[in-house]
Amino acid sequence: MGGGQNNGRVVGSAAEPRIAVVSGGSRGLGLEIVRKLADRGMHVVLTSRRVADGQAAIGLLGDAADCVAVRDLDITDAASVAQFAGWLRGRLGRCDVLVNNAAVLIDDDRDASSVDLAVVRRTLETNLLGTWRLTQAIAPLMRAAGYGRIVNISSGLGSLAAMRCDLPGYRVSKTAVNAMTRMLADELAVDGVLVNACCPGLTRIEVPATRDGTRLFATADTAVWLATLPDDGPTGGFYRDHVLIEW
Ligand code: NAP
Repeated sequence: MGGGQNNGRVVGSAAEPRIAVVSGGSRGLGLEIVRKLADRGMHVVLTSRRVADGQAAIGLLGDAADCVAVRDLDITDAASVAQFAGWLRGRLGRCDVLVNNAAVLIDDDRDASSVDLAVVRRTLETNLLGTWRLTQAIAPLMRAAGYGRIVNISSGLGSLAAMRCDLPGYRVSKTAVNAMTRMLADELAVDGVLVNACCPGLTRIEVPATRDGTRLFATADTAVWLATLPDDGPTGGFYRDHVLIEW
């Protein structure tokens, strides 16, 4: 990542590019969010459980790659999160945007009454506790700067208003992420930190090798919008396609 370094530390000021961190950034929606934030002139830290995956993903970013650094980060591992936050603090000095994208979906076809609770526990370890852990590690940097945008990538499957019995581990983890979003929004508003959740929209893209020639892909637009909100932007909301949806 280039620009503005002083004794190995980027000097922070509002005029400098925003620094964004994306968890689970080496593939899927995370990689698309990395690309779009870099396209908008941010310096993006692409984090990935395996740094080699992150390096490989950089190769897919074209010109945007110039604004992207890769770091290893496993959000279920407290030591990994602490090490990453220490690097961020020491090397970059701040973090303006955190996109909590990393998640697992490991439910099988069992519904709520029969789900293996070990699966629920493992899902919560990543989707809720890992997300919470990383947020706790980074929020102090945002508070100190009086600026921050936290975007929790949730899912409509976590909406209580539309709750169903399938995918119970994943659903309950996203409901909990939504609750965490509300709590943090309430707590951090006074520090200029806006915290929102979103369900990525889906778009159908032609993929000739597949059976019907198309596939649905999650889209990054709402996450990027929430990551770039103005100071008087909303906080504590749950969005899809830029529109509030029911919790
Ligand atoms: P994906 O392709 O399965 O990617 C998930 C990412 O999370 C991967 O980069 C994965 O890393 C990372 N990850 C998993 N566990 C991790 C951990 N312990 N520490 C750090 N990173 C970890 O998922 P996706 O479809 O792009 O979805 C991204 C986000 O959107 C998720 O929060 C998902 O719940 C949400 N979402 C997706 C859709 C959809 O249709 N795709 C719909 C609604 C919501 P590895 O590469 O190392 O496995």
